[in-house]
Amino acid sequence: MFTNDCLNVNESGHLTIGGCDATELAAQYGTPLYVLDENVIRNTCRAYVNSFKKYYDGNGMPMYASKALSCMELCRIMDEEGLGLDVVSGGELYTALKAGFPPENIHFHGNNKTDEELVMALKHNVGKIVVDNLEELERLNSFAEKLDKVAPISFRIKPGVDAHTHSFIRTGQIDSKFGFALETGEAYNAVKKAISYENVCLKELHCHIGSQIFDIQPFVTAAEIMMDFIGKIKNELGVVISQLNLGGGFGIMYVDTDTPVPYENYMEKVSIAVKAKAEEYSIPVPFIFIEPGRSIVGEAGITLYKAGAVKNIPNVRTYVSVDGGMTDNIRYALYQSDYTVVNASKANQKPEMTVTIAGKCCESGDLIQENVKIANTVAGDIIAVLSTGAYNYSMASNYNRIPRPEIVMIKDGKPRVIVKRETYDDIIRNDI
Ligand SMILES: *Cc1c(COP(=O)(O)O)cnc(C)c1O
Repeated sequence: MFTNDCLNVNESGHLTIGGCDATELAAQYGTPLYVLDENVIRNTCRAYVNSFKKYYDGNGMPMYASKALSCMELCRIMDEEGLGLDVVSGGELYTALKAGFPPENIHFHGNNKTDEELVMALKHNVGKIVVDNLEELERLNSFAEKLDKVAPISFRIKPGVDAHTHSFIRTGQIDSKFGFALETGEAYNAVKKAISYENVCLKELHCHIGSQIFDIQPFVTAAEIMMDFIGKIKNELGVVISQLNLGGGFGIMYVDTDTPVPYENYMEKVSIAVKAKAEEYSIPVPFIFIEPGRSIVGEAGITLYKAGAVKNIPNVRTYVSVDGGMTDNIRYALYQSDYTVVNASKANQKPEMTVTIAGKCCESGDLIQENVKIANTVAGDIIAVLSTGAYNYSMASNYNRIPRPEIVMIKDGKPRVIVKRETYDDIIRNDI
């Protein structure tokens, strides 16, 4: 019934995730509730790791983009599965370090890292700092000098690839706040500068062409453009950059019209392109990093709500209000993201009612999804929104002073809390 392998329907007609009855989880832990299936997360990690083994002689490493969902338990799982970690802020770095994540497997991203963040990354010897702009390069070099270190760095490059995705989450093209442009010569000049600096060591070039991408071709094109740049650097500057980072952005299924490609197809095609370019420029085949975020946790997670008022406005629409909203899932309000919604209490019944799922915040735009079909819903039903593992908790807020929900992780049919529900005391913790 569901394409997502962690979901099913039991004999009571209730939705199950990871073998647990969603309505029982809601009763036990309260709502709203984020639920994740650990087996799905680990299987996805293994698919990425194995794709490097199968198509690239194991000469690469997936780095989980922790902005998709950052918490200590997930950092531990990523380390156990042999993934590295991307962080984009001091807070994400702190989370990883507190979880005991090996700093050498952490990359620090961001288009506007503060002095404090750069120093923090240097002091903890993170594996790489992905430099976004010249001003940052200069600051980093001088901080590294003061700390008597040589910082391993990467450059965020805009390869100019349009990944045919939603404009809000498109980051590869020239009009982007992220990185150095290739076509203007900006990237080349930055490389020259970095080579002349003593307290940074340029080890890698990085690109990230967008998010929720279903085509393989934009990734292949970006990889070729990056390899051409590495070839040019070798030919003209005599420097061989031995690592290539191709970013994340692999699409997942939110609704049944989404068509993700198996992740190993990606490595298969990209490895052919990269190896051909390495031969063309007589350079060693580079070590490759990729940075999946959404695809590691997205489909492994669902959100459970309790339905409250069902408000039928004749000839207009029917609102089903739930006990969460834009505070735990802002993605529809932010960029009209699609979601599949299921009445978890009646998962065996035909979805016959067309409704708009509204949150409880004081904003008309606080909607989770419009015009979705679900089974006939009454107050008290448990409503499940699917594929919410990525960019939901990590984007959650306390608007209207609503505490953030907790996250329950299921492993082999057994649930455990991995992030506690916030309390009202948490809400006023910093008030004076
Ligand atoms: C957001 C981001 C990712 C992860 O993107 P997904 O679409 O979640 O896979 C990877 N790398 C960088 C630099 C990013 O900004």
